Amino acid sequence: MGEHKHSRQREIIRQLLYGRTDHPTADQLYEEAKVIYPSISMGTIYRNLAYLSEIGEIQRIPHPGGADRYDSRPDPHFHFVCTSCGGLQDVGVLSVDDTEAILSIRDSFEGGQISGFTVIYSGLCCNCLRKR
Ligand SMILES: [Zn+2]
Ligand SMILES: [Zn+2]
Repeated sequence: MGEHKHSRQREIIRQLLYGRTDHPTADQLYEEAKVIYPSISMGTIYRNLAYLSEIGEIQRIPHPGGADRYDSRPDPHFHFVCTSCGGLQDVGVLSVDDTEAILSIRDSFEGGQISGFTVIYSGLCCNCLRKR
């Protein structure tokens, strides 16, 4: 059962994230996974999210005001955080040239190795702006 159970749990997490743009937290994914797979544990969720991020299938996005968010999009892109509701969403599309330009800074970074970047814009989302 062991390996089969593991791949099934991973598949559930994959499916829960697939195609989403709301960048859920691990807690949120846990609540949703429990509905489908009542015996799933928080540790399993964390382990699989870490694994999927590590192999580059998903991305872990640090939220400046709270828990990490998980992104079904593995390609490099920018994010926007609403300072009022805390919502995190994708903003814009990066071309290969943009990505290369951003990463070209690694040539002037001595003594270490840059493998990625996180850019988070902040402001008010359209829902919060409308409420003002
Ligand atoms: Zn907002
Ligand atoms: Zn994203």
